[in-house]
Amino acid sequence: MKRDLDYGPEAIILKIGTQEVRTPAYPSDCDYVRVVENGEEVAYWNMDEWRESPAEVMGAIMGAVKEVADGTRVKLVEQEAAERVIYCGYYMPWIGMCKNPRPCAQHKDEVCITCKEPATRGCPQTGQFVCGFGLCNKKSCEEVHHRNTHGPGRWF
Ligand SMILES: [Zn+2]
Ligand SMILES: [Zn+2]
Ligand SMILES: [Zn+2]
Repeated sequence: MKRDLDYGPEAIILKIGTQEVRTPAYPSDCDYVRVVENGEEVAYWNMDEWRESPAEVMGAIMGAVKEVADGTRVKLVEQEAAERVIYCGYYMPWIGMCKNPRPCAQHKDEVCITCKEPATRGCPQTGQFVCGFGLCNKKSCEEVHHRNTHGPGRWF
């Protein structure tokens, strides 16, 4: 994905709401077409692509232009955002990622055994039992915990 700085003068071919379809400004050659949303590039095709598969790329470009024109792309994005559930994501040893929606009653108060910051996973070390102590993402916390709890001569 290129930054705006890399583009020369552009023509806005179509602008609906926060979305724009842009190409190089005439009389420059049209060697790319891109879709910009809130100033961010969301789709881009250049002439190398339409040289390789002209019909397919032109179809994709026209499809994108149509979506911008009738607002279906915006609606899709809004719909995806509405449907997206934020999972707890706490990693439970031998079980996997916690799929409860946030805030998760089971894990929201878990803290790292070493630094007491919010934990993101349980320690998977297994001896007689799975350890399961909370750990954050910092490697150093895991190392301290391992030294203190799972080091040589420790029970597990
Ligand atoms: Zn959870
Ligand atoms: Zn920690
Ligand atoms: Zn442990």
